[in-house]
This record gives sequence, C-alpha cells and structure tokens, in this order.
Amino acid sequence: MSGRVPIGVALALLVASGCQSGPEPIRYGQQECAFCRMRIADPRFASELVTAHGKTVVFDALECLIEFAAGDGGAAAAGGTFWVSDFSRPGELIDARGAVFLRSDGVRSPMGLNALAFAAPAALEQARAQYPGTLVTWDELQPLAHALHARRAEQRSAPGASRP
Ligand SMILES: [Zn+2]
Repeated sequence: MSGRVPIGVALALLVASGCQSGPEPIRYGQQECAFCRMRIADPRFASELVTAHGKTVVFDALECLIEFAAGDGGAAAAGGTFWVSDFSRPGELIDARGAVFLRSDGVRSPMGLNALAFAAPAALEQARAQYPGTLVTWDELQPLAHALHARRAEQRSAPGASRP
C-alpha cells in the first residue's frame, strides 16, 4: 500500500502536466471574448491565446487578442502562442506567426480592424480579388490594433458621447 499514489492525485498530475500546445475548438455563440466581452459568433475572425501553461483564452477578433496581450493579459500571454481564424476556412485556427494577413475595408471584422488571416499566400490572393486591400504582417498589425483601440477609447470618453 505505501508508496502508491492515490488515483485522484495521479489524475490531477496528469491534467496539470498535459502540455497542450494547440488551440481548443471555440464554442461559437456560447463563449465570450476575454477582452471586449462580446459573444464570439463569427468563425472567420475568432482568435485564441494558448498560454505557456496550456490554458486557452478566446476572443471574437484578432484585434482583441492583440490588445489583451498588450494590456492586462501580458503576463498570461508571455511565452504563449497566438491563433487566428483562417478566413478561407472558417473555424480553422492557425498560428498567427505563420499566417499572412489582408486588411480590407470590404470586410467588417467585429472590432473594426478588418484584418483577415490566411494560412497560405495563394488563398490570400484569391480572397483579395473579392476584397481589395493591403498585405500586412502579424507584427505590423500590433500598432494598427493599438491605434484602433486608442481611437475607440477616445470616442467613448469624448464629451457628448452617450454615457451609461
Ligand atoms: Zn473582443
């Protein structure tokens, strides 16, 4: 008997050490964005953070993921991986670092950055015929998201804006 690990403890250890590196499927219509608290409904734009500990945090748009990681979520995002929806395969999450992005005003993303992610440049070019726009990298999207967020915050606090 001595020296044996109770089954409950063994299971807990297993769960804790289960290094999940990939994203978890998002439950559309049920989960809310960790940044803006809107319900995640559009599988073309949803995003996810997988922390270094394998915990997942979900967002309705990649701009919310960027702002979360740059703000209060910085500690959680450190060492984690970022996942974005492949616009040409809605519901498929791809690593943001390996994705290519198209910014087009022909599409409206949940928070207004209007950035579409693709796993392959060929898919991006195909979409670009329908949604004219410019190519941007993940790094280039960071300041764009920050500027958008600052503008929105300014609008909310501007005199004359409707207050709750
Ligand atoms: Zn959001």
